[in-house]
Amino acid sequence: MSVISTNRAVGIANRVEEFVREVVIPYEQDPRRDHHNAPTDAMIAELREKARAAGVLTPHILANGEHLTQRETAVVLQRSGLSPLGPLAVNTAAPDEGNMYLLGHVGSADIKQRFLQPLVEGRARSAFFMTEPAEEGGAGSDPSMMQTTCEQDGDHWVVNGRKAFITGAQGARVGIVMAKSKQGACMFVVDLPDPAIRIDRVPRTIDNSMPGGHAVVTIDHLRVHADQMLGNSGEGFKYAQVRLSPARLSHCMRWLGACVRANEIATDYANRRQAFGKSLIDHEGVGFMLAENLIDLKTSELMIDWCAGVLDTGSLGTHESSMTKVAVSEALMRIADRCVQTMGGTGVTDNTIVEQVFREVRAFRIYDGPTEVHKWSLAKKIKRDWISKRS
Ligand SMILES: Cc1cc2nc3c(=O)[nH]c(=O)nc-3n(C[C@H](O)[C@H](O)[C@H](O)COP(=O)(O)OP(=O)(O)OC[C@H]3O[C@@H](n4cnc5c(N)ncnc54)[C@H](O)[C@@H]3O)c2cc1C
Repeated sequence: MSVISTNRAVGIANRVEEFVREVVIPYEQDPRRDHHNAPTDAMIAELREKARAAGVLTPHILANGEHLTQRETAVVLQRSGLSPLGPLAVNTAAPDEGNMYLLGHVGSADIKQRFLQPLVEGRARSAFFMTEPAEEGGAGSDPSMMQTTCEQDGDHWVVNGRKAFITGAQGARVGIVMAKSKQGACMFVVDLPDPAIRIDRVPRTIDNSMPGGHAVVTIDHLRVHADQMLGNSGEGFKYAQVRLSPARLSHCMRWLGACVRANEIATDYANRRQAFGKSLIDHEGVGFMLAENLIDLKTSELMIDWCAGVLDTGSLGTHESSMTKVAVSEALMRIADRCVQTMGGTGVTDNTIVEQVFREVRAFRIYDGPTEVHKWSLAKKIKRDWISKRS
């Protein structure tokens, strides 16, 4: 499946795929779901024990703490995504994977020990608190609209504000919170739960693979020790950049895996199911849908590999990850839609994961930057480049 990867990554990816296909996929029928229809923490803990025993827990971080390269990570995370439960089972799911990456790259030794270690061991979940309620005029597509404040009080900071769409806040043990000081954006890592961080409600959403759902939260006089600030006051967006491109790309990797599997299921259906005296696959309309899926799958894989290669050079890859996020999320939406269509009524039932993949990929076109915001920022770059070439 990979374009180019190292032997170690291919070996890890093969073991992850075997684990997902043999152990995780049977759990897709397990009825243990929370009140938002997401897998329960008990079920995830059970899966993680099995992943630990199989040696595939947190497979993208090696025992010495070293991260696989982005190109290597791509191969491993794609395989973990073959089931919507796969990333949770092997600990490559969002937002933990992005949060682990950030803490691993910018956390002090103490922060790594206290906050990163339980995440890497798959014994805790985390949440990233940036977006704020749209109806209150808070940060969304435009992070500079952030209203949550932080003020220094001796050797502590006091944080106040409201947040929205905070994936996994309910049930998380680690939080990364963004707020604004006089100097600008700040980022803190905190223990959860904390009475000063109140879950107001968890709305029902189109997706249900993420435990804890996407909470609306009030932060009311949260006191955080100054040691728990990542970087310095005013550097919060700089630190957010460290997480941004890799986290965006890892969503592409996992959802590509999910669409590979959805396409396998649709292909199987089209070959077995008969209509008008022949298999569906032999009807040109169906055959073309599956052919287009192959093209979109391969194009997505190549774009991910290209962008991963750019990040591996040490570049922030801001524009490359924007291009890749748009191209891949839109291609995956087309693939999931064609899988549903190929399978007729069965495609919209919960008989298979195809309907879930279709719903979940829809949300991916919004989080980590909606398609239009990425295109808008690319257009600004195109204009800047045009001006600089003329001057
Ligand atoms: C499932 C899910 C999980 C999420 N998890 C988290 C999380 O864990 N932590 C967190 O902090 N946030 C999270 N988010 C929030 C997510 O990052 C925001 O939804 C996203 O940034 C968009 O912000 P918004 O919803 O306020 O949309 P708005 O800012 O209101 O934008 C609405 C629409 O306007 C259009 N638009 C905006 N700007 C432009 C522009 N410049 N040009 C053209 N069109 C534009 C886009 O089409 C966009 O979809 C999550 C969201 C979802 C759906």
